[in-house]
Amino acid sequence: MGKRIAVIGGGPAGMIAAATAGSLGKDVVLFEKNNKLGKKMFITGKGRCNITNAGEVDELIDNIVSNKSFLYSAFYSFTNNDIVELLSQYGVETKIERGNRIFPVSNKSSDVIRALERHLIKNGVKIELNKEIKSIEKLDDKNFKIALSNSEEQYFNKVIIATGGKSYQQTGSTGDGYVFAKNFGHSITDLKPALIPCIIKEDWVKELQGLALRNVRISAYVGNKKIFEDFGELLFTHYGVSGPIVLSMSSYINKYYGSEIKISIDLKPSLTNERLEMRILRDFEKYSKKQFKNSLENLLPRKLIPVIIKLSSIAEDKFVNQITREERKELVLLLKNLEMSFSDFRPIDEAIVTSGGVSTKEIDSSTMESKIVRGLFFAGEVIDVHALTGGYNLQIAYSTGYLAGLNC
Ligand code: FAD
Repeated sequence: MGKRIAVIGGGPAGMIAAATAGSLGKDVVLFEKNNKLGKKMFITGKGRCNITNAGEVDELIDNIVSNKSFLYSAFYSFTNNDIVELLSQYGVETKIERGNRIFPVSNKSSDVIRALERHLIKNGVKIELNKEIKSIEKLDDKNFKIALSNSEEQYFNKVIIATGGKSYQQTGSTGDGYVFAKNFGHSITDLKPALIPCIIKEDWVKELQGLALRNVRISAYVGNKKIFEDFGELLFTHYGVSGPIVLSMSSYINKYYGSEIKISIDLKPSLTNERLEMRILRDFEKYSKKQFKNSLENLLPRKLIPVIIKLSSIAEDKFVNQITREERKELVLLLKNLEMSFSDFRPIDEAIVTSGGVSTKEIDSSTMESKIVRGLFFAGEVIDVHALTGGYNLQIAYSTGYLAGLNC
């Protein structure tokens, strides 16, 4: 047997790292504190696991939010096609859905986890479940001592930290790797929730709970500076807003956390102000003898109407034929710029990913080895990299895991 390698964390990053090292004849032990592998992977893609994305590597990189250039080597060394091919070797067939998202044909994340488990076994990895690592110490140039929570101590030549982020802690991702890395002298950049719903200050938002708006544009501002813009689906909740474009927004605005952030929804992004006014005029002609509150049903979802009426300066019982030009123009502006104030993110435990982590400046991007401690490697979400939704975060885990396993 070759070098003894410890991989800490049985998520996608740790599993690929361990199996890759095992395939090179190394003596690998994979430690996972849960009683099974891939507990977080199990809940990905609402239990269907959005395995990766079928885009070109450049498109994958485009969807990385922080430290894109750090991932070039990893993404070219172990690609989206590589994971698809690997899974197919273990009987998992895949399909491509909207937005190039790749899922297992069976729609079961458990099939993906089982395939990775078989990959580990085939490559001779010793899987140690229910084994929580408490500390890692470097003894000399070639030896690490690992202490387990059951008071056991074990010795290894190389260590790969693949402990994940800090969210959905019941899956095991409790942020232990940040502590291990810090104790080795690594810097941990600010840990913040990403891909997380937002709490909104205004009370009227609560009245919209459950309403999904499909084709809207969202923009976020700090003062006059636009810090984010996207088009797509938004969902109102009892605390604020969620849905795909809000999750994406959170990943970009979290660096402005603490500033006053305004969020604006354009409810009619396909219409210019002039066209929207013409559209409203048509409805107003049709409903000229009705009250304002009964004139918006062709324009807006039912749930939104009372809120828009309240926020507008037009009295709800005003007859449509008495609405002035100025009032109409104001209504146009309101529909093009429904403004809300960001209050907070939901707690980090609800984040799809953690932004921040072990600084990429201190990790060799072509090997995943620490630049501070030789023989120590990092893989997956514990590193300061994260991406939008679409399968990119799991691809980060496999690609960085692969490089760590190859080079340890
Ligand atoms: P993790 O998957 O978090 O694995 C880390 C492992 O380390 C855990 O099993 C943990 O128990 C173990 N561990 C931690 N500390 C110790 C210790 N001290 N000793 C021993 N073991 C330890 N991404 C996608 O690309 N597609 C999706 O569809 C998708 N959906 C998601 C849905 C949800 C609800 C969530 C929360 C995330 C989703 N993600 C998705 C993100 C993706 O799951 C993560 O980015 C990915 O799992 C990170 O992989 P990892 O191996 O780095 O860490």
